[in-house]
Amino acid sequence: MTAASELRPVIVGAGPAGVRAAQTLVAHGLRPVVIDEAPRAGGQIYRRPPAGLAQRTAKTLYGFESKRADALHAAFDGLRGRIEHHPDSLVWNAQDGQLDVMHGPTQATRQVPYSHLVVATGATDRVLPVPGWTLPGVYTLGGAQVALKFQGCAIGRRVVFMGTGPLLYLVAYQYAKTGVDVAAVLDTARLADQIAATPAMLTQPAVFAKGVYYVGWLRAHGVALHSGVRPLRVLGDDAQSRVTGVAWQDGNAERTLACDAIGFGYALRSETQLADLLGCRFDYAPMHRAHLPVRDAAGRASVPGVYLAGDGAGIMGADAAEWAGERAALALLADNGVAIDTARAAQLERRLDRLTGFRRGLERAFPVPQDWAAHAPDDLVVCRCENVTAGTLRQTVAVNGANEMNRLKALSRVGMGRCQGRMCGVAAAEILAHATQQPLQQVGRLRGQAPIKPIPIRLVPAEGSGT
Ligand SMILES: Cc1cc2nc3c(=O)[nH]c(=O)nc-3n(C[C@H](O)[C@H](O)[C@H](O)COP(=O)(O)OP(=O)(O)OC[C@H]3O[C@@H](n4cnc5c(N)ncnc54)[C@H](O)[C@@H]3O)c2cc1C
Repeated sequence: MTAASELRPVIVGAGPAGVRAAQTLVAHGLRPVVIDEAPRAGGQIYRRPPAGLAQRTAKTLYGFESKRADALHAAFDGLRGRIEHHPDSLVWNAQDGQLDVMHGPTQATRQVPYSHLVVATGATDRVLPVPGWTLPGVYTLGGAQVALKFQGCAIGRRVVFMGTGPLLYLVAYQYAKTGVDVAAVLDTARLADQIAATPAMLTQPAVFAKGVYYVGWLRAHGVALHSGVRPLRVLGDDAQSRVTGVAWQDGNAERTLACDAIGFGYALRSETQLADLLGCRFDYAPMHRAHLPVRDAAGRASVPGVYLAGDGAGIMGADAAEWAGERAALALLADNGVAIDTARAAQLERRLDRLTGFRRGLERAFPVPQDWAAHAPDDLVVCRCENVTAGTLRQTVAVNGANEMNRLKALSRVGMGRCQGRMCGVAAAEILAHATQQPLQQVGRLRGQAPIKPIPIRLVPAEGSGT
């Protein structure tokens, strides 16, 4: 066992999970390294605008979450001098004992060694494309929110939000509140789904109340809310090459609405590539409709010395991320002989466990449309990096017999481009499962490959170069 003073724990991600992990390690006398590709700590929900941008109050930026945001930012700022912080730094590769990290502004890359690793990499939007989604003016819901929170600008003047999930109503509310004309919210979930999920969601009454408030506020301010819809296509203007509207199916009727921007998404998917590069074992998690790295109740991955915390190992929300970050750090400490408060560790595990019922409720309230793949037309672009359509994927199944995701990738190039399947992987798996008539878990997942996010090609060492 390494003496605690010789440990060099590295935390990837300075969101709620990473910040609480860092704080816990510091409280026990360690000096962790914290790496985040963002310029300032806070993660997605508590993302901070660039230092130079006109300051907005926490209340304006984070609404009901402003106190939590302030607390998390203060906790991180209070660690200054006691951690090694690498902002603007993308971890693009992970090998045994070291990370390859690129500093964004200078594009300098270097290797950062670690004795232990806390992976707290969060999530991105779950994307199920609709014809026309590659037109300028179409954003993911998360992207639309980042524009507002980070850059202080809106994606358009008259915006439609569509898809499903809690972010749908939250982002619509945030946009409407800033004065943007929100033309409509189109939810693929049915009202009946949300009513059926109410008992489970009432296990977290405060969170439930916020959701009800957003919907009520939108309704009271005249925003059209449609549920149980099926998005059909984004309408575009060839001359200006931009969004001009959206068409959707509402019962038997096809409806259209004019707008100049669209935010869409179907809840979130975990950022799991680092865990994958590290060799962590994955299992299919039905509640998340995804293959996720396996962790024990404390956050230990299957690889010794690797800990997983927050949305990067399963979408559970910001509060859970804070608890999981602290719990994972306690596990790291205990595994290295440092005395920890075991009662606190047990309390954190109980809190995390109690959230599972609520999380199930969310999935019930905002289900991924099960018939999405069946309705995806052949000419729908699924992978925009490599311009691979749904029809090409189906043909690859029919002609080449691809029945597993990595085989599908090798034969069609889906997920082989810049995003490495982070954006298109979910949709490609749905198409593959439908085309081969297999359950989703059977088609597997795209293996992580370095670089996990785009970096200049000159930074990737040539094979056999020894660098
Ligand atoms: C775009 C978006 C907006 C959201 N908005 C809300 C909201 O308004 N309200 C709400 O309740 N929930 C929101 N969520 C969900 C919420 O953000 C999460 O539940 C919560 O932030 C999870 O905390 P975390 O610490 O696990 O991850 P995050 O907060 O996502 O933090 C992960 C951090 O890891 C960093 N990172 C990831 N990969 C790398 C890498 N390879 N190298 C270096 N750094 C890396 C990221 O830059 C990020 O700062 C949002 C999620 C997303 C994706």
